[in-house]
This record gives sequence, C-alpha cells and structure tokens, in this order.
Amino acid sequence: MLSNFFHSNYISMYDFGPQHPLKPVRLARTMELLNRYGVESVDPGIGSDVNEFDPGLRFEKELLRVHDAEYVEVVKALSLGQVTADPYQYGLAKGDTPHFRGMFDAALAYTACTVEAAKRVAAGAPIAFAIGGGLHHAHRNRASGFCVFNDASVACDILLEKFDRVAYVDIDVHHGDGVQWMFFDDPRVLTCSIHEEGRTLFPGTGGLHETGAAHTSLNVPIQARTTGDVWLSAFLRTIPLAVEKFGAQAIVLQLGTDTHEADPLGHVRCRQQDWLAAVREVASWKLPIVAVGGGGYNLTTVPRMWASACLTLGGQEFDDRIPKDLADKWNMPTFSDAPSETREIGKEYADGVVDWLLENHVPQIGR
Ligand SMILES: [Zn+2]
Repeated sequence: MLSNFFHSNYISMYDFGPQHPLKPVRLARTMELLNRYGVESVDPGIGSDVNEFDPGLRFEKELLRVHDAEYVEVVKALSLGQVTADPYQYGLAKGDTPHFRGMFDAALAYTACTVEAAKRVAAGAPIAFAIGGGLHHAHRNRASGFCVFNDASVACDILLEKFDRVAYVDIDVHHGDGVQWMFFDDPRVLTCSIHEEGRTLFPGTGGLHETGAAHTSLNVPIQARTTGDVWLSAFLRTIPLAVEKFGAQAIVLQLGTDTHEADPLGHVRCRQQDWLAAVREVASWKLPIVAVGGGGYNLTTVPRMWASACLTLGGQEFDDRIPKDLADKWNMPTFSDAPSETREIGKEYADGVVDWLLENHVPQIGR
C-alpha cells in the first residue's frame, strides 16, 4: 500500500486538445493500473464540485512561491475566456501551450497535489507522490513546453522550509529548465538533469557549462539515439556523487518517461528497466522524496513506467507481468521491455560529458 499518493480528477481537464501529444489518458491508465496494486489516491480538494467549502483557493497562494502574481492572474483570466493580456507574451498563444477554458483549475489541481505531497514530506513522511505533476518547463512569468505552473519548483520551495539543502533530480528526456532557472544561483537547491542535448531537442538549454554561481546546477546532456545502458551509466556516474557531495537532505524526483525509446517526442533509447534502475538508485539514498511525474507521450510505455516507479519507490513488490485484462487491452504484457541488442550508442559523447563534469564541476559541489 502506497500512502501519501495525491491525485485529483481535475487534472484530467489539463487537456490542450485532440491533436496535442499530452493526453490525459496516460494518467488515467496509470491510475487504473496502480489501483490493481491497492494504490488509493488522496484528493487535495480542488474545484467547487469536489468540496464546496474549499474551491482550492488555499492553493493559489502556493503558486506565488515561484510565479509572479501578474502571471497567475493572466492564467486565471484566460482560463475564464477573458483575454486581458497578450497570450503570446505569457507563452500561452497557439503552439505548445495554448490557453484553454478551465486551464487555471486544471493546472492548480496538479500543483495542489504536489503541494500536499511536499508538505507531507516536510512534515516527516519518507515519501509522497504527485504523479500528475512534474511540469518542469514553466517559468516565473511564462508558460512553456506544455507547462503552465511549475509545481516541481513549488515542491522545492516547500521543502526548504524544513530542510537546508534540497536536490532536484530530473530524468525526463527534456532539460528541466524551469526548475534550473528558478534556483540557478540558490545555494540551497541542487538541480540535476540528465537529458537529450539542446541541439536536437526542446528547450535547447541544459549544456554542461550551466553550473550556477554556487555550482548547484548539474546538467548531463547526451546525444539523440543514445541507448539506455549509456544513459544509465552517465546517470550513475554523476548524479549520485553530486547529490552526496552537496549533502542533500531531501529530494524532489521528476519522473519524466519520455526517455523511453518508443516515445514520439524524444530520441533517447531507454528501456523501462534502464530508466527504473535510475529510480531504484534514487530510492537507495534513503532520503525523503517527493515524487512527481513529467513528460511521456507513448500510451503503452507511460503507465507501466510510472506505476513501476511508484511501486518501487514505495517499497512494494510486484511481478513483471501486468494483470492480463489490462495487458491485453493496452498491448502492454510486462512492465519491462524485451532486451535489445544494439547498445552502447552515444557512449563516446556521454563519456566526454561525464569526464568533464567529474573533473571540473562535481568537485566544486558542496564546498
Ligand atoms: Zn519531457
């Protein structure tokens, strides 16, 4: 039984339309799968039809930890269909992150889940989950890359009330730019991101040399087509050491699943088992964890990756076979992928990145 698992049905309203790659069904399937393992979610109480005495307003002030009040007001107005400002200026025009009716409530719902998870961990829980969150691209005053509010940054800020040093670990295929820039020069938060390099993938940042004034930003860029063995090795050689040297007391773990080789947006070639090995490594640190979701756009990979990550982090044993009716319905027989043969692609580049980091950046961390 996983406890402190926060989810709101309002998150299913976070929907940019039928042509958009981010589909609410990825989360619905994850919940349906996790329910088979006895996982029950707690609703933080967003929206007047969930709890008429608390329409989520208490969560609005949490947004101001990392967002400008002006931006929050613009999102709220656009969500009601009122165009009070130029949506383009706030990253909400047509394109990746177009504004839609009800957007504020839906974005507040995933943020509320992350807020509750972070507060549980700040209050002493060893782990809490908000798998509908992890929207790491949003900036202080601008939406970006399907992300309206940056709940992962909100979680870091909440943990700082209890802990002196917080590490953010991001295994999404995209650079965790929003969180990095929020805390770039803040010596209390170490942001770590392993991702496909910016030359071939959004958002274009996340280079080696983005280290932060206090050496609290760690980026491990890898090439498109890099295979999961190389990805995992680059992760294991850099991030655990950085987190240890930093002296992290708590972790915000962003579980982007678009690192998978079948993902339609990224070009990294992780199998579920490579990616899950990184999750298992984070669990082995025995630090308090706020686990949030993130990217992932293949409906046969995201549910099994998120479900296996949550069960692993929660210390719950599970068989590799997926319950038969769901396996048949979703064409997803097992949690893991079949082993494949061509590996070690991208190794030379990744080794160069790791060597540079171990020589020039990691020694400066925590000094
Ligand atoms: Zn992503």
